[in-house]
Amino acid sequence: MTTVVVVAGVLGVLAGGAVLRPWAVTGTTSRAVAVAPTTGTSSPPPTPAAPAPPVTATPTPLVPAIDLAGQSTEDPSSTWVVVNKSRPVAPLDFEPADLVGLGDERVRTVVHDDAVAMLAAASTAGVQLTVLSGFRSYASQREIFDSMVGHHGVAEAEQVSARPGHSEHQTGLAVDVGDLTDPSCDFLPCFATTPAGLWVAAHAQDFGFLVRYTPENSAVTGYAAEGWHLRYVGRELAGHMRSAGLTTLEETFGLPGGPVYP
Ligand SMILES: [Zn+2]
Repeated sequence: MTTVVVVAGVLGVLAGGAVLRPWAVTGTTSRAVAVAPTTGTSSPPPTPAAPAPPVTATPTPLVPAIDLAGQSTEDPSSTWVVVNKSRPVAPLDFEPADLVGLGDERVRTVVHDDAVAMLAAASTAGVQLTVLSGFRSYASQREIFDSMVGHHGVAEAEQVSARPGHSEHQTGLAVDVGDLTDPSCDFLPCFATTPAGLWVAAHAQDFGFLVRYTPENSAVTGYAAEGWHLRYVGRELAGHMRSAGLTTLEETFGLPGGPVYP
């Protein structure tokens, strides 16, 4: 517990006050570089300043503030990809190449170790957190969505289920979790009040996961609250979002969301 608090504190300090936004990055990378005039005759001619790197370049690891342009929000293999009703997975039938087992489910390799650490930390805290679903293919999401439409109609289905090609589960970066001691609330609003639901709301971000859909952000995300749906974004971005008071990827990156498919 002490370690977690310290890490979160460090991230808060690093991210606080010096956040690089995409528009700020452009200004930073294009700033003029002063070149000293040549005074000696034996010195080699000054080397011209190197051109500024593109804003999509890999961030320098030692830069203390997070570079929000440092990873793609479009590429479905990026841990920062933003998928919602306005932003489908592209290509629509994308399937990750590096899925690994997590219990009975599969997730991206990058998700695995932090998920295992999160489950272990929950267990240490006396919470029986379990993974109920991970990667879902385009085809399986189509089955789920069509079933929801069949049972509840299109309007209600679209409140609670993504159209195929619009689910974060297709990226292998999302997991749905449950409480082994109270499975009656699995996939239901009451999950948020179970020990597991309360624990992930307080601690999932320590391990790089967001509770993606909350009652407060549903207008932005376009989905009803799902206290069980955790989206992996990595510890750096999760820590930045917490210190900045942001709960959605849409607001973090200035990207569209909302409940309506364009
Ligand atoms: Zn989910």
